Amino acid sequence: MRKFKTESQKLLDLMINSIYTNREIFLRELISNASDAVDKLYFRSLTDDAVSINRADLAITVGYDAEARTVTVSDNGIGMTKDELDKNLGTIAHSDSFEFKAERAADAAERTDENTEPGDVKGLSDLTDVDIIGQFGVGFYSAFMVGKKVRVVSRAIGSDEAWAWESNGIDGYEIKAAERAEHGTDVIVYLKDNTADESFDTFATEAGLTQLIKRYSNYVRYPIQMEVTRSRKVEAPEGAEGDEAQPSWETYTEVATINSMIPIWKRKKSEVSQEEYDEFYKTDFHDFEDPARTISVHAEGSLNYDALLFVPGRAPWDLYSKDFKKGLALYSSNVLIMEKCEELLPDYFAFVRGVVDSADLTLNISRETLQHNGQLRAIARRLEKKIKGDLASFRDDDRESYEKFFEQFGRTLKFGIYQSYGMAKDTLADLLLFYSAKQQKMITLDEYLADAPAGADAIFYAVGDSRERLANMPLVTTVLAKGYDVLLCTEDVDEFCLMAMGTYGEHAVDGDEDNKQPYFIKNVGAEDLGLTTEEEKKQAEEATESNAALFDVMREALDGRAEKVVVSTRLTDAPAVLTSEGGVSLQMLQVLKSQPGAAEMGGMPEMHLVLELNDKHPVFAALQAAHEAGDDDKVRAYAGILFDQALLVEGIMPDNPLAFAQAVSELMK
Ligand code: ADP
Ligand code: MG
Repeated sequence: MRKFKTESQKLLDLMINSIYTNREIFLRELISNASDAVDKLYFRSLTDDAVSINRADLAITVGYDAEARTVTVSDNGIGMTKDELDKNLGTIAHSDSFEFKAERAADAAERTDENTEPGDVKGLSDLTDVDIIGQFGVGFYSAFMVGKKVRVVSRAIGSDEAWAWESNGIDGYEIKAAERAEHGTDVIVYLKDNTADESFDTFATEAGLTQLIKRYSNYVRYPIQMEVTRSRKVEAPEGAEGDEAQPSWETYTEVATINSMIPIWKRKKSEVSQEEYDEFYKTDFHDFEDPARTISVHAEGSLNYDALLFVPGRAPWDLYSKDFKKGLALYSSNVLIMEKCEELLPDYFAFVRGVVDSADLTLNISRETLQHNGQLRAIARRLEKKIKGDLASFRDDDRESYEKFFEQFGRTLKFGIYQSYGMAKDTLADLLLFYSAKQQKMITLDEYLADAPAGADAIFYAVGDSRERLANMPLVTTVLAKGYDVLLCTEDVDEFCLMAMGTYGEHAVDGDEDNKQPYFIKNVGAEDLGLTTEEEKKQAEEATESNAALFDVMREALDGRAEKVVVSTRLTDAPAVLTSEGGVSLQMLQVLKSQPGAAEMGGMPEMHLVLELNDKHPVFAALQAAHEAGDDDKVRAYAGILFDQALLVEGIMPDNPLAFAQAVSELMK
């Protein structure tokens, strides 16, 4: 028996017990080695006339024996000689595959046009068909996470002897003469015994193995075959009666290819049909609807990678739950590294699904994570631009479908602006759609501005729970009457998003190109909309002044509900309206109140309401008359009614509806 060197023994222990977080990846590692062995043989056949193979025969086979509790991974690849078994499997962290890859790259670098004969195949650059996975020289030992013993039987190509390597992963290994009919390798893992809290049984089942092959090795380029059990219907013999006449089922076994092999993301978009993309999306991302968008990226440069992204047709039910996990599947050389790599997507594109594959990633030794997140960040930045660009063309080229997309995912985009405190607005703002009161359809902010009257310096919006009600609100109708459009917002996130944005785009002030100002985004309920002339403002201030005594009585009657009572500059038909002076709007307060847990959180944000009165309205004259006649009880009653009525017009229930109803009945008597 040969001994592992002491250090090696410690290293082996580390390898087996601390590198991997997930023991099921042993199958991924053994299959990756098998794929490398087959790749190497294929390469040999191209460079060595003595070796001729039929590419179609190259394959990997996975088998199991539930009784003997073994899992076997076999390949008909290049195989190993006795010396190679010793060197490759007896030296931890020695990777023959890595050397192979490095040599091919060196060959390629050395070659010039002069020294190349036609038909020469030396460097990897010629061999897009070779895609070696191994690199650290440790993957093989992961078999000891699930195996108490591992036996490797191998026969090198061109050799007529086979050798068996065997080890319990603790004190050493043995190499003995063995039998194998053809070149290639079998790795037989003898599963560990189950303990009270660990079971290894699932690795010796058809279902367990199929699942792991599909998850980690679905895109390995050679077929991974397995004997699977199927069942078929057997028709009853003709003329049979009773129970005999029923068809029965029988089971049988057949060898099936488990992996789908073709990494569709590596193919050029022009060479793949949309049907193929749709099929891939639906099977791999478990959706029953076609994707709304397919984005294919092939990046070449300091970091090469392929990506295939999808915007789903419909939001998954849990998109807005806190358990939702965003991320793209990350592959390196066709082998899955991470199922959901979060760093690849910003939160506001969390709904995007897809795959990123790069052979250039500096993987952590366990190949479960990356060593340098800088690489991920670089890819993420590029993908974000791609997604943004694609959504912008979606918006411009197919508006109807874009609106459907926006119904599903607009909320995520708006949240993105709000949560980034407006920082993401450069990326997202022009993707937003809002309902236009004037045009009665969804429009972008640019479309709003294109339609705005000359000299406009603001974008107006109103928030509430229904478009119909908003459209009839005095605050909205007065702005519309002045020729400005109003965006009618009914989603809880709208005001937060628009407030976080604050401004959008820019315009030249009075046609002066050197003096550019952004358009301010304003709630129609805000104090100063900038739509009144200085003259109108002055008049209203004077009217407020001269009615000070009346307004004092009203303000006291409202007992803190409104901070001010003033003559309005904006009303045409309605007698009164509530606006807010700084702080949050009435509607936003409603949203906050309706959030679960709001009551317990106590402290609602401050609000400064102003009751604005229309001094051209007959009600105003009635108020003045009552005050002049010394009937302040009436003035107080009117103040309450006007306040509650202004709330009702905004779709908000007064605090005391009964008092309101009684006051109105009193009036009618
Ligand atoms: P890596 O794959 O990163 O090189 P491993 O520990 O998985 O490291 O394997 C070590 C080496 O053993 C490989 O580089 C390869 O030379 C050899 N090897 C492993 N499995 C096989 C196999 N099925 N056929 C031929 N060689 C193999
Ligand atoms: Mg390996």
